[in-house]
Parts: sequence; C-alpha cells; structure tokens
Amino acid sequence: MNDNRYSGASEAELGFLKEIVRMLPAGLTVQDAHGELLLVNDAAAAQLGMDGSRPSPDLAPRREACRKALSAGQPVVTEEALHGGTARQVLLTTHRPVRLAGRELLISASSDITEQKNFEDQLFRSAYFDELTGLPSRRVIEHRANSLLAEKRGGERFALAFLDVDNFKHINDYYGHAVGDALLVELSKRLGRDLRDSDMLSRISGDEFLLLLSPIQSQDEVAEFMQSTLERLTAPFFIDNSEVFASTSVGISLYPDHGSSFETLRQNADVAMYRIKNGGKGSAAFFDSSMEREAQARMKVEQSLRLAILEKRFCCAFQSKVDIRTHAVKGIEALVRLRDDEGVIQAPGSFINLASELGLIDELTHLVLAEIVKSIDLINETFGAEATISINVAAKQASNSEFMRSFARALEETGFPNRFMIELTEDAFVAQNHFQDEILPTFRKLGVGISIDDFGTGYSSLSALADITADEIKIDRSFITDIHKRPRSQGILRAIESLSEALGMTVIAEGLESYEELAYLQAATKIRYAQGYYFSRPIFLEELKLATPLSSEARASVASRPHQQNRQGYSRASGYRR
Ligand code: C2E
Ligand code: MG
Ligand code: MG
Repeated sequence: MNDNRYSGASEAELGFLKEIVRMLPAGLTVQDAHGELLLVNDAAAAQLGMDGSRPSPDLAPRREACRKALSAGQPVVTEEALHGGTARQVLLTTHRPVRLAGRELLISASSDITEQKNFEDQLFRSAYFDELTGLPSRRVIEHRANSLLAEKRGGERFALAFLDVDNFKHINDYYGHAVGDALLVELSKRLGRDLRDSDMLSRISGDEFLLLLSPIQSQDEVAEFMQSTLERLTAPFFIDNSEVFASTSVGISLYPDHGSSFETLRQNADVAMYRIKNGGKGSAAFFDSSMEREAQARMKVEQSLRLAILEKRFCCAFQSKVDIRTHAVKGIEALVRLRDDEGVIQAPGSFINLASELGLIDELTHLVLAEIVKSIDLINETFGAEATISINVAAKQASNSEFMRSFARALEETGFPNRFMIELTEDAFVAQNHFQDEILPTFRKLGVGISIDDFGTGYSSLSALADITADEIKIDRSFITDIHKRPRSQGILRAIESLSEALGMTVIAEGLESYEELAYLQAATKIRYAQGYYFSRPIFLEELKLATPLSSEARASVASRPHQQNRQGYSRASGYRR
C-alpha cells in the first residue's frame, strides 16, 4: 500500500517533470543509437518543423551529429542551419550522450539563434558590401588586389581604375539625395556591364568607384575597354521623371608598371584622375611619372596652405561696385586673401575648398566680417558711408542653418546690418533645402541684401530666377568678357536683363576689364552697375592708410577710377595712388 502510494506520487512527479520538459523554451530531444527520436518537446517540434507549422527541414545532419556524439562518447556543440522553405533557421545545439538502463541515448538541447545570426550576417555584409549598390566594399577589392599581388610577383599584369562621378555634388544638391542615390545605383549597373568574372567593381565612397581589371594583355586593351565604358555613361539616366546626365572621370594605373602595392596603385590612379578632373572631365587617363611630380608640388602647396589656414592668416581685399554712368561707388565686395608661409598673398581659388574641407570656412566668414567691422571707419572714409558691403557665403554654408543663424546674429551685432549684402551662388538657391523659405527671411528681416553671384555658371535655368528672392544678380565674368564681340552672350545678357527688371533685381556685370566692354554695356543695355579691373582691382585698406589722406572728391575717384594697378591684385601693390 505504502509502496503503491509512493509509486503513485512518483508518477505524478514524473508527469510533472514531463510537463516541464515539454514546456521548456529550449528545444530538447532524446534520440537512440539509430538516431530515432524518442522524445521531442514542444520547442524542439517547432524548431524541427515537426508541428506542421512549416515544411519539414532535412534532419540528416542532426542524425549525423547524433552518430558522431555517440561514437565519441563526448558532448558535441553544433550550429545547425535548417532550411525549411525559404526561411533559414539556425540552432545552437549541445548533444550529450548518456547511458540509461544499458541503452545509449543522446540528449540534445537547442536554442534558436536565427535572429543573432541574421544580425551577424548583416554586419558582415555591411563590412564587405556597399548597402546602396550591393557592390563589394573597398576592403574586398583591396583584399582581391593583394591576393593578385601575392600570386603574381613578376607575373601577370592588371589594371586599377579610379572613377569619380563629375559634379555629383551639384546633381545631389539640385535633384535631391534620393535621385543622387538612384543615379549611383544606375551608374554602377552600367559600369559593371561587360565585366569578366575575374574583374571587380567596388564603390569605395560617395561617388568614387574602383575597378580592377585582371588579367590584362596591354595598355591599349584597357584604354579601349574604358573608352567603351565611358561612352555607355553618356546616355542620359531616367530617374524619377528627370533626365539626368552624368559623366565620370577615370584615372588608371597598371601593375607592375605604376606600383607594386595596392596603396601605390590606388594613389597613382587617383593622381591620373585628378589630371582629368582639371582638364575636360568625363574621360580617362593613365598614370605617368610627370603626374607624380605635379602631385608632389600640389601637396607642398596644400601643406603650406593648410598651415596658413590653421594659423588664420586671412585678410580682406575690397573691390568696388560702380555705377557705370556716374562712376559713383554703389558698394564694395570683401574678397578674402590668405598669406602663405612665404608671405605671398593667395587668392581664394587656391584655398576656399581646402578651408571648407578642414571645417574652417564658417570661421573664415566670421573673420571676414570681423575685419570689416574693425575697418569700418576707413571703409566709410574710402568708399562712402552709404556703400553696401558684400560678403561671399559658400553654397554649402547657406544650407547650414546653424551657421546661417550665427552669421545673422553677428551681422545684427555690428549695429549696421542693413549695410550688408550676402553673395551666394545659384546652387544655394536651387538646392533642395529650406534655404529660401526658412533661412533667407531671417536676413531680410535684418535688412541684409541678397545677391546671386556668378549668375549663369550654375545649374539653374533662367526660369529658376523667378523663384529666387534676391535683390541683386551678378552676371558672371564669362558673359562679360569681350561682350562687344559676342552676339550670343549679348542675347543672354538681354534676357537676364529683362527678366531681372521684371523681378525688381539690380543687375551687376562682373569682371569688366576693358573700355570696349563698358562702352557696349552703356550703349546697348540698361545695366547700371559693374565690378571689374577696369574700375578697380581688389585693394587692401592698409595700402590706403599708408597713402596720404584723400579729399572726399579724390575718394570717389580712387574707389572707382579706371587704373593700371598690377594684374595680380593680390600682391601688396605699392602706392595705390598714382
Ligand atoms: P566672386 O565673388 O565672383 O568675386 C569676384 C572675383 O573676380 C574675385 O576673385 C575678383 O578678384 C575677380 N575679379 C574682379 N574683377 C575682375 C576682372 O575684371 N577680371 C578678372 N579676371 N577677375 C576679376 P577672387 O578675389 O580671386 O575671388 C574668387 C572667388 O572666391 C569669389 O568670386 C568668391 O566666390 C570666393 N570668395 C572670395 N572671398 C570669399 C569669402 O570670404 N568667403 C567665401 N566663401 N568665398 C569667397
Ligand atoms: Mg562674390
Ligand atoms: Mg562672382
């Protein structure tokens, strides 16, 4: 009786234990020596697809693991990937052999690590593949080049091409990032067409691609292949209802001719690409040693500019905007200069982009403003207290609302914000951001004028002018040079002129250099204002300080007089007054 009661309790206990095993969150199975399943709890049934929830996976690997663990007599830990249908399931399983009542059994406990595995795979993919285009990453192509180098010492040749999309920034700004991204995807498809299995195309950053061509027979063969690839890119891309044109500049280096390491080959291809960028763009060039010397010279200049920028050796030159009929000064433009290591004054063309890259452009603009404020008395004395003062702001800064807010505050703090104008290129206005409706109004409220600089050189069309709220439009020098001899430019000028008149914008002709150009503007157009060497080169105020004080009459003439100052406009021209 007692025994019975005891075994009854044990049965209940056993039932209870079975229930616990059944409900365990880990999959648990017991198999015999033949791999037959003696016990499968709910979690294991679901994992192995035995509950009818999905197609049964192949259990052969599990039987094999079972056989191994039993014959080893040791626990075995395995990672099992079960493919049921399209879904992949990964289990981490510990198989433990046990001996029970003379029988060899295998207890297996599995946890589902599918999610963790998927995450790991995703990490792996993002380390080795570009998410946008699906192309291998820089790491992969570097690895591939290195293994070619390792196996081919003194052996077969290969080519490494560095490709950079021309004006991608403009395309991004103009059409927006979604179109920019789609363009990169389409471009990578066109670039990748016609590649052999042994070639590799990789996207290494934003708009830069590397192409490895291996093996190659000759330079001519590579040149021909690149030519046909580039031709394929000239057809427009149709993205989001827009017809987008994109060309690519390519620099190519060859192994072993131009280097024996991946890094050298990549750099030399980059150097060759740079030559194309500065030339016609949209074509390809092979590296040669003259480029190397050029690159070294460039690097030296860059280093010295870097230092000058970091040490903030900036100063300002001022150039007047003149009424072409009365020669009165309407305003002045502050043009930043940099004093390099050797004390030579550099024009912004050589350092603005670098300053921007170094993250110093915003500070530079504040420094320009500070110099104006410091010199305001001298400015008033020289150009008159009514003259507007223009400051250039890069398009990239214009879309940075944090900078623009701080700049607006600084202009307000001068106490005379309505004397200022900011000059922005078209890109700033047409870029798809909130510049026009959110940032500009802050400046307008302060009475700061807005000017469109270098008009005609950007990506906007004449019709885009209608959507731009600006006070002044500066027609780029490229239209003004020899205007009297160029009927096409004359036509464009007339169109800009009448449109600006309708929109109430003042028109200024930039880069006026000769009497003939002036005579044309006066006789054939209604343009009132011009800026250019003909009237005045950019001047340094301290040069004026050194000179004898001027009468107010002489002042107007200094600021606007046609003169013969040296052509650089950047050197410390001595004796401004002649
Ligand atoms: P910009 O604003 O269009 O300035 C006019 C440029 O044309 C100046 O060149 C000026 O010296 C030059 N120029 C004026 N008249 C003539 C002429 O008759 N003939 C010729 N050939 N050139 C003339 P600069 O000073 O080298 O400045 C180049 C550009 O650098 C400026 O073009 C402007 O976009 C930018 N820049 C100048 N200062 C700043 C600044 O403080 N911040 C920023 N972000 N950019 C600046
Ligand atoms: Mg300007
Ligand atoms: Mg300009």
